[in-house]
Amino acid sequence: VNETAALEWIRNLSSKTHQNRMLLQGIGDDCAILRPRPDEDLVFTTDFVLEERHFERESHTAAEIGHKALARSLSDLAAMGSEPVFCTVSLAIPPQLAGRWLKDFYKGLMALAAEYKLMLAGGDLARFGKVVADVMCCGRVPRGTAMLRSAAKLGDGIYVTGQLGASAHGFVTRRGPAWARHKRPSPRITTGIALRRLGVRACMDLSDGLSLDLKRLCFASKVSAEIDSALPMARGASLDEALHGGEDYELLFTVPKSSAIPQDADGLPLTRIGTIARGPAGRVRLDGRELRPQGFDHFA
Ligand SMILES: [Mg+2]
Repeated sequence: VNETAALEWIRNLSSKTHQNRMLLQGIGDDCAILRPRPDEDLVFTTDFVLEERHFERESHTAAEIGHKALARSLSDLAAMGSEPVFCTVSLAIPPQLAGRWLKDFYKGLMALAAEYKLMLAGGDLARFGKVVADVMCCGRVPRGTAMLRSAAKLGDGIYVTGQLGASAHGFVTRRGPAWARHKRPSPRITTGIALRRLGVRACMDLSDGLSLDLKRLCFASKVSAEIDSALPMARGASLDEALHGGEDYELLFTVPKSSAIPQDADGLPLTRIGTIARGPAGRVRLDGRELRPQGFDHFA
């Protein structure tokens, strides 16, 4: 498969997916053209998926890697409470993967894109020794309503969606629903939108483990956190996996004491796990003792 043929195949695939009216030009020119509406903010995120860092080619199919590459970026859109608009995909692969593997990667990615009416608007293709995928996603929110890490306030309740620890547990056991969850994470797009509509202002996605991500949220909001209630644990997961395991892609958010929050949003349970407290910015305590983050830090 040569590059021109591969690009033509990708362009064809993308033309069969959802067409967004904001996008005046998708794949086929030097740039994509987007015409935003005046009453909306656009949010952007970009995420790497690297062979040997985020997956091994032996244990993940090409379609699973395509799914995961997009799911990571969509999870960031979910954290803002935004509705997906379009993505671009840059992919580098060893030459022997340029046939079937390449197509399966895009099929896996586009299947997830179709679930959220997300358009593939462009990207790049290159030859490299290992698989490197970079997915950029754009989402939209009504002007001024994007949920932020920096919006947590003293006295807020701290909540998480779904269950924690499944991905880390699956990574160890390599079987069952936890392993499936590790390989095919579900970005919480509809839940994120539901939370924004409920008036939630502070939110982030759990990509690197609760202990590290909650610390980041607290740093950004210049507050401390007390985890004082039981965590919603994935079946089989240990407390360590729930606290420190990465790649759950659930949402972490805070809610003022005075606002009521439903028990679930869009079918996903919402569990209160703690309180935003006075104290040094970024400090997280569990049952009164400081919780040291063991989540994933690329440069630690
Ligand atoms: Mg994130």
